[in-house]
Amino acid sequence: MFAFYYRIIKKTVIILYIILFLLTANSVFAGGMNKDFEANVKKIINKAMQDSTAWEQLAYLCDTFGPRPSGSESLNKALMWMKGEMQKDGLENVKAEEAYVPHWVRGREFCELVKPRKEQLHMIGLGGSIATPPEGITAPLLIVNSFEELKARAKEAKGKIVLFNKPWMGYGDAVQFRFNGAVYAAEAGAVASLIRSCSPIGMQNPHTGVMGYNDTIPKIPNAAISLEDAEMLERMEKRGQNPVVHLYMEAKTLPDVKSYNVMGEIKGSERPGEIIVVGGHTDCWDPGLGAQDDGGGAISAWKAVKLLKDLGIKPKCTIRAVMFVNEENGTKGGKAYAVDHKNDNTKLMFEFDSGVFEPQSIGFSGSDAQMETVKGFEPYLKILDDSISVVKGGWGVDISPLAKQNNIPVMSLGTNDEGKYFWYHHSATDTPDKVNPAVMNKCIAAIAISLYLYSETK
Ligand SMILES: [Zn+2]
Repeated sequence: MFAFYYRIIKKTVIILYIILFLLTANSVFAGGMNKDFEANVKKIINKAMQDSTAWEQLAYLCDTFGPRPSGSESLNKALMWMKGEMQKDGLENVKAEEAYVPHWVRGREFCELVKPRKEQLHMIGLGGSIATPPEGITAPLLIVNSFEELKARAKEAKGKIVLFNKPWMGYGDAVQFRFNGAVYAAEAGAVASLIRSCSPIGMQNPHTGVMGYNDTIPKIPNAAISLEDAEMLERMEKRGQNPVVHLYMEAKTLPDVKSYNVMGEIKGSERPGEIIVVGGHTDCWDPGLGAQDDGGGAISAWKAVKLLKDLGIKPKCTIRAVMFVNEENGTKGGKAYAVDHKNDNTKLMFEFDSGVFEPQSIGFSGSDAQMETVKGFEPYLKILDDSISVVKGGWGVDISPLAKQNNIPVMSLGTNDEGKYFWYHHSATDTPDKVNPAVMNKCIAAIAISLYLYSETK
């Protein structure tokens, strides 16, 4: 009889214990700071700020391998170098997983003003564009500021080169013209499409980026020209000087190429089967060296994991740094990762692809309860910099295929670029000198703190 009651009491105690455990699992992030967490966060910050190797490796990557467009030999060489460095860093389970990526090559290209006078314009072909015929295209311009204006003036577009000269109103606005301009221009009967470069500043520095075609509408060549050239051409048109340009492009799309997502991890001390993914992308556009977009972001993610390892902070779950390939024109790396890791128990996906500037926010997308927990990271992040806050809305192009497919919470680091990120992005000026080594270390610390604290949550 006593044994019977004893069993009931024992069961009840176990159930109560489980309920209590579930209720308090994340409450460590409610209220004040936990002393152990605070001590580890301070260790993370101290070590991150003393270490200069992250920026040096970024500079080595950029200088040694050069531009890393998807499908290029230089990108694959850079990826193998990253794999070797991850092994040297002592990360576990280092590997390169295959992903087939698009291979667009620019070839020779130029754009010149032929009337009312001759001048080389500052141009760059847009990623994915077709070539012009071998003799190039010579045509007068139709200059518009919006798709609505093109629609209203569609009758004038036939046989012309349409130039979308839309003043900068943010990247989201500008990118519509880069991505869809050739489709709208071709639909109206144009023979080629030009856009004013997607950037708030000019300095005769045109920016490239991915563009799209629609299979039901003829494909026409598509390029960007500098802000200054676009403005000059519009002034000429308004004066009735009827500018004529000659566009020459050899661009072509070759068959897809085998490339890789490179990754390495530190094994979780208590729940190694639970995985936190943190990454950035390794490919970049060809005019620059991809320091800000996104070599700096990718290396920061990787070095945040190394930092936790070097400090001997043993996260409870596994933290895997993933250097995703082909963010810029296809997300083939992110998509391959979603296939290869669909059965993983992924607890969180973190991406850093917003420019290596002063850390400003940790963005998070997840349930309200998870958001509440992550909000509790704020006091720890403020030890690094009082201006960092936790905000709603994590994002990342590379992580989104698996995150959407498996409904995984998403986190990202937002930075305060003071408007400068789009000065460099996708242009020849995206080089390591644009990344401040101390600021990069702060970004690494912010990522490491967030990963460590998240690994402490249930
Ligand atoms: Zn990017």
